[in-house]
Amino acid sequence: MGSIQTNFTPPAFLDGKAKLLLIDGKLVPSVSGKTFKTYNPSTGKVLAEVAEAGREDIDRAVAAARRAFEEGPWSRFKPFDRQAVLLRLADLVEKHFDELCLIDTLDMGGPIARTSAARRRGVALLRYYAGLATATHGHTIDNSVDGDIFSYTLKEPVGVVAAINPWNGPLGLAIWKIAPVLATGCTMVLKPAEQAPLSPLRLGELCLEAGVPAGVVNIVTGFGEAGAALSAHPGVDKIAFTGSTEVGQHIVRASAGNMKRVSVELGGKSPNIVFADADLDQAVPGAAMAVFNNSGQICSAGTRLFVQRSIHDEFVQRVAAFAKTLRVGDPLDPQTQLGPLVSDTQLERVTGYLASGKAEGAQALSGGQRITEGALADGYFVAPTIFANVTDSMAIAREEIFGPVISAMPFDSIEEVIRRGNDTPYGLGAGVWTRDIGNAQRVSRGLRTGSVWVNCYQAMDPAVPFGGYKMSGYGRESGTEHMEEYLQTKAVWVKNPPEKR
Ligand code: NAD
Repeated sequence: MGSIQTNFTPPAFLDGKAKLLLIDGKLVPSVSGKTFKTYNPSTGKVLAEVAEAGREDIDRAVAAARRAFEEGPWSRFKPFDRQAVLLRLADLVEKHFDELCLIDTLDMGGPIARTSAARRRGVALLRYYAGLATATHGHTIDNSVDGDIFSYTLKEPVGVVAAINPWNGPLGLAIWKIAPVLATGCTMVLKPAEQAPLSPLRLGELCLEAGVPAGVVNIVTGFGEAGAALSAHPGVDKIAFTGSTEVGQHIVRASAGNMKRVSVELGGKSPNIVFADADLDQAVPGAAMAVFNNSGQICSAGTRLFVQRSIHDEFVQRVAAFAKTLRVGDPLDPQTQLGPLVSDTQLERVTGYLASGKAEGAQALSGGQRITEGALADGYFVAPTIFANVTDSMAIAREEIFGPVISAMPFDSIEEVIRRGNDTPYGLGAGVWTRDIGNAQRVSRGLRTGSVWVNCYQAMDPAVPFGGYKMSGYGRESGTEHMEEYLQTKAVWVKNPPEKR
């Protein structure tokens, strides 16, 4: 029987009361009065009741965001004022980070060592966008039209943004959506994932404390139906979606009604390529943690591990040995490296792929099963797994698993590995491990992915754009490119009157 997390102090936010929607600056129940439960994936126990938004709540939230955008004090905020709000929010997130990361650890199972290490990025994101708030500008553009006429561009906020997020990094993903909204002067309705809605709700409270005016940031918790109502809503100008490719396609279709701007950050099946000349002492843990971080619940996880044939057998054995040293356990224990999967549904999905891999002839060199014994038995824990004897056509080599599962395959030449690396509908991330700068450059240019990491994996920074090619989506988050997703460009032409003589 499971017996973890019996003795700890829960955050004050988890006070046993139902968590409410944030609409127009107030915490309110859903119109229907319905709630749903969010579970602790380490124990399978209920963590909190949360208001379940329906269509009427979405209508109210969008109307509040529209009013705040068009009429409220926010519409008169100068860049400097928006910067000040972002900086206050950054300070509050920093001050309350221990609470926020504990909420995430309880709600989605990320080890506390991981969720607390996100402090720097979360705070840095807000401060980076605070800088961009005062650095947005159009251009004056020399034109060739006859007469004395000049032209310039204005950058204007796109309007009401519907932001819809998955569960694999609830706090960080919420910050990533809120920051550009505040920097550009947009307003928003954020729908966090139903599996892990708590830290975004707490962040909403901090937004109010930071002086974000009522209606600028609205947070509605609920299921896919709420997300669908939001993405089809005629009062929304832009959708910023992060989640699966399948739902991303629904989003794009739903956006057509009023031609919403759309950015979609979707799934992946990223290649991670290890050449024989690589520094293997770096590449072994690098290849392992490119997948096992967050128990594989990372969109850009390097799940297709291509290893040059001459070192393949030794390398995969070393990754398997490394995997066996990883501490899977109670995410509240600071020593834990891998926590549970987020839900029973995700557990079913991942163990389904473990079974399909074995049935198709792959060999699990480590892991390969759910942990069903001892203190972890009640949670959704899966041992970190590396499969060998994988072929390109197996489901485990083609489909996104979103669990701690590596599919390793040998390769011979650089041309071959670039072709096989690209032989996927996805194009999110990629890794290449080599000491040869020529190999690194050729692979980086050859792969059709939004990020390539050379001798590292999943490095991220607020200033560096992140996003997908192909079915991994379009649009970029982070960097100045991200601001463009939330801005319209207006061209203004000014004809000077003829000179009076
Ligand atoms: P999901 O697509 O099932 O759900 C994401 C969000 O969409 C949730 O809030 C959900 O309620 C909502 N939703 C569901 N159906 C909807 C609909 N018809 N219309 C509108 N909204 C709807 O994804 P998930 O299982 O929560 O998350 C895992 C997926 O997210 C993986 O595919 C992963 O690769 C992807 N992801 C991508 C990135 C990235 O930056 N590219 C980052 C994190 C996760």
